[in-house]
Amino acid sequence: MDLEHAPEDEEFRHTARAWLTTHVPVTPLPSLETEEGFAAHRKWERTLAADRWSVVSWPEEYGGRGASLARWLIFEEEYYAANAPGRVSQNGISLLAPTLFEHGSPAQLARVLPPMASGEVVWAQAWSEPEAGSDLASLRSRAVRTEGGWLLSGHKTWSSRAAFADRAFGLFRSDPNADRPHRGLTYVMFDLRAPGVTVRPIARLDGKPAFAELFLDEVFVPDEDVIGEPGQGWRVAMSTAGNERGLTLRSPGRFTAAAERLVALWRRADPSDTALRDRVADAVIGARAYHLFTRAHADRLAAGASLGDGPGAGLGAHPGAGGLGGDPSGGLGGDSSLNKVFWSELDIALHETALDLLGAEGELAGHANDSPDQGGWADGWLFSLAGPIYAGTNEIQRDIIAERLLGLPKGRR
Ligand SMILES: Cc1cc2nc3c(=O)[nH]c(=O)nc-3n(C[C@H](O)[C@H](O)[C@H](O)COP(=O)(O)OP(=O)(O)OC[C@H]3O[C@@H](n4cnc5c(N)ncnc54)[C@H](O)[C@@H]3O)c2cc1C
Repeated sequence: MDLEHAPEDEEFRHTARAWLTTHVPVTPLPSLETEEGFAAHRKWERTLAADRWSVVSWPEEYGGRGASLARWLIFEEEYYAANAPGRVSQNGISLLAPTLFEHGSPAQLARVLPPMASGEVVWAQAWSEPEAGSDLASLRSRAVRTEGGWLLSGHKTWSSRAAFADRAFGLFRSDPNADRPHRGLTYVMFDLRAPGVTVRPIARLDGKPAFAELFLDEVFVPDEDVIGEPGQGWRVAMSTAGNERGLTLRSPGRFTAAAERLVALWRRADPSDTALRDRVADAVIGARAYHLFTRAHADRLAAGASLGDGPGAGLGAHPGAGGLGGDPSGGLGGDSSLNKVFWSELDIALHETALDLLGAEGELAGHANDSPDQGGWADGWLFSLAGPIYAGTNEIQRDIIAERLLGLPKGRR
């Protein structure tokens, strides 16, 4: 693996940096977990899209720049270093889009991707149910065949930002008589404002309606909104899950930028505290290790891309397309679980170290009236605690690593 970027890639970095310097809002946007903040972030998505920075690695026809994986990583580094706003389109661009690149029809790509890239349609993920989280295959929401499509009924929960989003993608049981729980599932896209959908916001600890539960009562979905074959939803869902745990959701730029900020905090701290100094060093090492691990992944994916010309052949054109983690037999499947455990634990360690450096000051949340500039660390720490839960809990990821990567016997279920 060549650690130096090609001169053209460095040129791309400068172009991205110049754009971000001019466009990133000087005053941070309100939290995207509120109605006002969601609207402000949607506007930011439009600004990004107007200059083709919202989905740099997608093909140009869908609003991207056709950038390679290496350039996508560079863009993300610059994005986080510039302290640019969080991406309200994340569920769409990081989870649904790679799934569509792998399993969607050309008509679906043409219809769904451009409004996703522009922020006109923001997507929510409707997978979890009250009795189906880690054991997703036990889900009970159903899709019943009707003329020209399907009728969806059931109850979904923990759907991030569904209180404000436009559309959702989810898994539904279409064949209740299938011989195994993960067979007979169908992967569909639906409108959150369609007749029969009730969206009930769920407040987070800080009171913001960051989640919603969805009640579906015979919601009509046309055949054109089914991704992949009816009954094959599990296979399609594994593509989404691999991308959620793997490369696309948590780019290393996020952690290398946080590590830089941590070092800046340390420089102002008490230099005699060697225990804290070691934790800062560990966090920096962790962020760099994650960066290298991801670069190695990207190189492998890019190398594989030249081998095929199927729907996943855009590996270089779209990160994760072709399934980082989507195909357990491809070797990268279990690696996305490694990735997930690593970034989620690194995120907590980074934030805990920052809070310990800040002392009492660190306890003020970012939105507190007299919060110092560093208030964001407290918000970030609270969110980091969710990392070992969402995208598949770390207990489950460790099972996958043990069984698929290490070949250990199955654990107790
Ligand atoms: C911030 C955040 C955002 C989220 N966003 C979304 C979203 O947008 N859309 C969506 O659909 N869902 C979302 N979720 C839900 C998330 O996917 C689930 O919380 C997760 O899958 C765990 O499921 P559960 O909450 O039902 O916990 P459970 O599955 O009940 O697990 C409870 C505990 O038991 C452990 N456990 C369960 N089974 C086993 C086993 N076999 N072996 C060992 N340990 C086990 C788990 O690891 C966990 O520690 C989000 C969650 C969070 C925290």
